[in-house]
Amino acid sequence: MIAVLKPGATKEQIDNLTAWLEGRGLSVHLSVGEFHTIIGLIGDTSQVDTELLEGLDMVESVKRISEPFKSANRKFHPDDTVVEVAGLKIGGKNFHMIAGPCSVESEEQITAIAESVRISGATILRGGAFKPRTSPYDFQGLRAEGIEFLLEAKKRTGMPIVTEIMNVNHIPIFEEVDIIQVGARNMQNFELLKELGTTQKPILLKRGLANNMQELLMSAEYIMASGNHNVILCERGIRTFETYTRNTLDLSAVPMLKELSHLPVVVDPSHACGIARLVEPMAMAAAAAGAHGLMIEVHNDPVNALCDGAQSVTPEQFDEIAGKVRKIRKVMEQ
Ligand code: PEP
Ligand code: MN
Repeated sequence: MIAVLKPGATKEQIDNLTAWLEGRGLSVHLSVGEFHTIIGLIGDTSQVDTELLEGLDMVESVKRISEPFKSANRKFHPDDTVVEVAGLKIGGKNFHMIAGPCSVESEEQITAIAESVRISGATILRGGAFKPRTSPYDFQGLRAEGIEFLLEAKKRTGMPIVTEIMNVNHIPIFEEVDIIQVGARNMQNFELLKELGTTQKPILLKRGLANNMQELLMSAEYIMASGNHNVILCERGIRTFETYTRNTLDLSAVPMLKELSHLPVVVDPSHACGIARLVEPMAMAAAAAGAHGLMIEVHNDPVNALCDGAQSVTPEQFDEIAGKVRKIRKVMEQ
């Protein structure tokens, strides 16, 4: 439920109302805008008498909202959230390209890819250290050593890094990681989300393979409800009956999530399509749909990649993609 206060509402009136609402067991989220103050009520609002509230002098309007996500809801937070990562701003009018291999394979590999994608315009380096693989017999990632190699690549290039966490007990290993990724398979690992919520680390939260947008936003809510509001949403394709592509990229999720939530939305066309040659058109489409950024898998030798070679573009292809995406962004900025 939200209450929009009249422009002249005084601090004393707002404090009194807040205390009254808190006395009814509700948490209150205040959003002070230039003209209006909005009170977001979190908790069981079924006991609140809407008419009584609306009858108060300082209240302009009261609206019950059906969405169960509150902190992630744009209704409570009309302005875009801009997540700060090592001096970069993600969200709002900013646009970032996150690029790098599916998995960190060696220090030389990650450093060489980092240097080339940086020159092409990528601002954040990705690379999996702990890999969620469907088969236990597949390469599982270099684990903690992979994070060390990423940090070395960061030192050499100055690029902040993003890498995936799978286990709540690993949080200390991610201390120096700039953005912690929660992958599709862990989107509803609620204990992990709650624990990540107690940190202030930016979290890149990927949509689950078979999860709808509301479930994605509820997972963001878990992180935010524990105190961490630095959440970036990532659309990475969902499972459908289609078999020609690895997943189906739900591009309508970009404008829809931006309407529902103030959190930044990035798109990963690599995992969505599973085919390297589809990455360019879908990256351009994602930029045109209004994404705040892209996450693209880039490998120096895709044929011999230890993971996801088929969907990895080469550094040269990434350079082309980045150039075309910049052109789309120029059009978007007009
Ligand atoms: C990844 O980004 O490396 C990854 C495993 O992606 P997803 O969780 O979207 O499958
Ligand atoms: Mn991958």
